[in-house]
Amino acid sequence: MTGRLVMVTGGNRGIGLEICRKLVKSGDKVLMTSRNAQAGAAAAEAIEKDTGVNGGCEVLQLDAGDAQSVQRLVDVVKDKYDGKLEGLIHNAGVLLNPWDADAFSQAKTVNYETPVAMTVALAPHVAPGCRVVMVSSGWGQLNEIPSSSSYMATLTTAQTLEDLNSLQFQADDPLKHVSSPATYKLTKAMLNRATYILSGSKLLAAKDITINACCPGWCRTDMGGGNATRSPAQGADSALWILNHPAPGPNGRFFRDGRELVW
Ligand code: NDP
Repeated sequence: MTGRLVMVTGGNRGIGLEICRKLVKSGDKVLMTSRNAQAGAAAAEAIEKDTGVNGGCEVLQLDAGDAQSVQRLVDVVKDKYDGKLEGLIHNAGVLLNPWDADAFSQAKTVNYETPVAMTVALAPHVAPGCRVVMVSSGWGQLNEIPSSSSYMATLTTAQTLEDLNSLQFQADDPLKHVSSPATYKLTKAMLNRATYILSGSKLLAAKDITINACCPGWCRTDMGGGNATRSPAQGADSALWILNHPAPGPNGRFFRDGRELVW
């Protein structure tokens, strides 16, 4: 597939940068969002040099932790690209270790609330059949959450985004004892449940929009570290597999390397 307009959040480095590079190489036009406009411009220039394609990426500023920045981005799409976006890849994410209210709040906003809010706000303004991809993580699978966790019931039964939004930090939740970053696991599990809920929503169905989550695998990025087993370019492929899937694409599912994962 080629010639599509695709937005990629957090496109300035890591897996997002490789998703942008591959899209430009295959002839798509990318709206690369970057928290820092200069970093985005440098990334876009690097892609231009590498691919030989001029103007393959347009850089748009997005701080996923700032509701006003999210609104500005939505307004740009409405004003300049109404009805044009054929793909929306929510890649920006943050891994925060501590189990405390502040880390939970930050991770919840960036990993869960902003991709969901952007999807809801942009749904009426994308092209019919647009594909939305939530870049999640295997660490967001439910088997990473202790069954005794107070979050488990909502994560497995929530039928509305309001139910999910109501989840609050619980200092004594059994999640604090898990060995790996608990705030990350919880907020990616929330993103997964939101993906499932949105996939059955009238809002997305009205424009034939599909939405799926993916895990890129453990990748050598600033987040994944130098010992990770995959290159960021390999990590990019899980999101692109969903984007490029022949019609009808999947909906409401979770994939790594094109293979389905359980929630
Ligand atoms: P990196 O840390 O290398 O890059 C993260 C990207 O997200 C950067 O572009 C960063 O922008 C952006 N970002 C973070 N916070 C914000 C914010 N508040 N506003 C806007 N942009 C923000 O991560 P990866 O490339 O490794 O990860 C990409 C995605 O893949 C994430 O969602 C991550 O959870 C997921 N993932 C990664 C794995 C791995 O092994 N690497 C494994 C499983 C999932 P800036 O440069 O401004 O900080």
